Amino acid sequence: MNIGIFGGTFDPIHKGHLALALRARAQCKLSRVYFVPTNFPPHKTSQPVAAYCHRYAMTALATAGEKTFVPSQLEAPPSALRTESSARGHILRPNYTIDTVRKLKQELNKSDRLFFLIGIDAFRDIAKWHEPDALFQECDFIVASRPGYSLAYVANVLPEKLRPREELTRPFAKEPAKGDLVLAGVSMHLIDDLNLHISATAIRLALAGKRSITRMVPESVEEYIKKEGLYREEGEASPQRR
Ligand code: ATP
Repeated sequence: MNIGIFGGTFDPIHKGHLALALRARAQCKLSRVYFVPTNFPPHKTSQPVAAYCHRYAMTALATAGEKTFVPSQLEAPPSALRTESSARGHILRPNYTIDTVRKLKQELNKSDRLFFLIGIDAFRDIAKWHEPDALFQECDFIVASRPGYSLAYVANVLPEKLRPREELTRPFAKEPAKGDLVLAGVSMHLIDDLNLHISATAIRLALAGKRSITRMVPESVEEYIKKEGLYREEGEASPQRR
């Protein structure tokens, strides 16, 4: 079976995330997509993030209508874990995506093929992730691109060992980033026409400015945010944020 894994801060999860997962599911015939709210995103430690329990709850609400979308606690913080030894292990090191992917693979069948869902904004930095080559070895990638990104661009941000030589990518500098890109050690599927101008940042800003977020999040998520009083102040660590 083809299985998707979609990690994100999901602070909060929004319609852009869901659109990407729906398209990825259709395009790559995914039987299931795991939505994994990250614990301490290594690249986002400087900014306050809503508590894991809220981000997970919103992920569960947003995915409730789709049987093949599975909210996952693969990156639950140590406090949510039972044993002391595993809690200690988690405190000492940040969550690396490759560890999460390996953990998930242990639960899947050997014949399952794993697809990693990601937006181009995050993919641009993929070479700086922990063990990026191993990530490409473990998963196919499904990348939501945007107009203005070329196939050459996507190839040139690959981890160094997997990156094709520049003279080979130059002819593709004007080719839009769409279709499949298969290179030695890399299998990627590019989506170029989602273009939903929604981000969690815009949602948090709208809420802090008392503007509507109805266009950007599922109704259940909007209700949860209101009930819990999340994101009332811009960028500040309120009791719900850390
Ligand atoms: P923030 O605005 O706080 O940075 P975000 O909206 O980018 O958050 P994340 O949880 O950081 O949300 O993103 C998880 C994944 O979803 C990333 O790979 C990101 O590139 C992708 N993504 C986010 N928004 C969209 C969107 N509108 N369309 C397609 N992919 C998206």
